[in-house]
Amino acid sequence: MKQVIVVGGGPSGMIAAIMAARSNNKVILIERNEKLGKKLFITGKGRCNITNQTDVETLMANTLTNRKFLYSAFYTLDSDGLMEFIKELGLPLKVERGNRVFPASDKSSDLIKHFSRELENQGVEVMLNTNVTELIIKDNQVKGALTDKGEIFGDKVILAAGGMSYSMTGSNGDGYKIASKVGHTIISPAPGLVPIETKEEWPKSLQGLSLKNVSLTIYKKDKNKLITFFEDFGEMLFTHFGISGPLVLSASSYLPKDTIRGIKIKIDLKPTLSFEQLDNRILRDFEKNNKKQYKNSLSELLPQKLIPVIVELSEIDENRRVDQITREERHMLVKLLKGLELSIKNIRSFNEAIITRGGLDIKEVNPNTMESKIVKGLYFTGEILDLDALTGGFNLQIAFSTGYLAGISI
Ligand SMILES: Cc1cc2nc3c(=O)[nH]c(=O)nc-3n(C[C@H](O)[C@H](O)[C@H](O)COP(=O)(O)OP(=O)(O)OC[C@H]3O[C@@H](n4cnc5c(N)ncnc54)[C@H](O)[C@@H]3O)c2cc1C
Repeated sequence: MKQVIVVGGGPSGMIAAIMAARSNNKVILIERNEKLGKKLFITGKGRCNITNQTDVETLMANTLTNRKFLYSAFYTLDSDGLMEFIKELGLPLKVERGNRVFPASDKSSDLIKHFSRELENQGVEVMLNTNVTELIIKDNQVKGALTDKGEIFGDKVILAAGGMSYSMTGSNGDGYKIASKVGHTIISPAPGLVPIETKEEWPKSLQGLSLKNVSLTIYKKDKNKLITFFEDFGEMLFTHFGISGPLVLSASSYLPKDTIRGIKIKIDLKPTLSFEQLDNRILRDFEKNNKKQYKNSLSELLPQKLIPVIVELSEIDENRRVDQITREERHMLVKLLKGLELSIKNIRSFNEAIITRGGLDIKEVNPNTMESKIVKGLYFTGEILDLDALTGGFNLQIAFSTGYLAGISI
């Protein structure tokens, strides 16, 4: 029987502790907070999108950074395996649009309760309110962890301390410091799945307006070369600083990590209509409303809140009668609706980022066991690793699969 220390009581640490204990090890799970799974609690707006019911290829395809590293972890515990694991703990699940899996009760707290009960059933000692400050290493072999309550010795340590987004949940990047102190490389962390600040002020006046079925392109013109970072279709939201919503969060994870200078956003408000189709549509509306002022002629085409912004950006006098609008002006309007331009000023901070991009360099970790290639007996799982995926349950699947693999490898 080995003594195993798991640092971090998030999803990754909890499943790792359960699996290590099920293999007859003595396991201590150390968590700095007063309770387990603080971040897990707020996932999926409190409903917790646990995973995405799909095959391993799709799990990999939705992982943006270092997907190949996850091959063994995903094949050891895929989404069906995870769902089975959770159902066996006694928690019923349901599958929603886009194969997203949630607790049938819609409560993340139920998932945490079931994991906590299994930790107890497996005899895992849970130490709450305990902060790990560094690892104890001798002859390149882990010997335990130093905490604010003293030293704790063990044969194996699993570091599942998370990334650095939403730091009030407990994952504040300390895991990186602990790992780098024992020789590991940290790939510079950046906020991922995060809202975007725009240079333009007009999104502020649209604060709260959500647009469904728009297309968003993120691009840069570099010496006459067009580089497209992202292009997709979906739902977005205007905020007091710029833009957010599912489409924007996904887009943010495709931005280059080093510099966002010169990067622009183009929103196609009518992606299902070609330029000509939209032009004809507007022409029909104008003919129908030919005595109306321009500012009162767009209500069938656009949400009310958006009209003053489009009118201003189109540079056509708002009081002009639509029968006086020229063909050229109408074409400018169509161009605007199909390519509303914004410039990226910044991305929001870690405190608004769903995940952290970057983290512990996976080249220094064995993908078949999650063990460090630098320190024997030390394992890394979950968001601390330089892995990140899109929304849809993929990030929690990474946390669970890597934690499970480390737990059984011990
Ligand atoms: C608002 C929000 C919503 C999200 N929704 C979803 C979703 O619906 N689906 C999805 O797949 N993903 C979602 N995510 C992402 C997901 O929550 C994370 O990917 C996941 O929690 C990572 O798990 P982890 O166990 O690696 O790390 P964490 O959950 O961050 O857990 C790490 C734990 O380690 C503890 N810890 C850190 N350092 C120390 C230390 N030195 N000593 C002791 N303890 C320490 C922390 O307190 C923390 O409890 C969401 C994230 C956020 C912020």
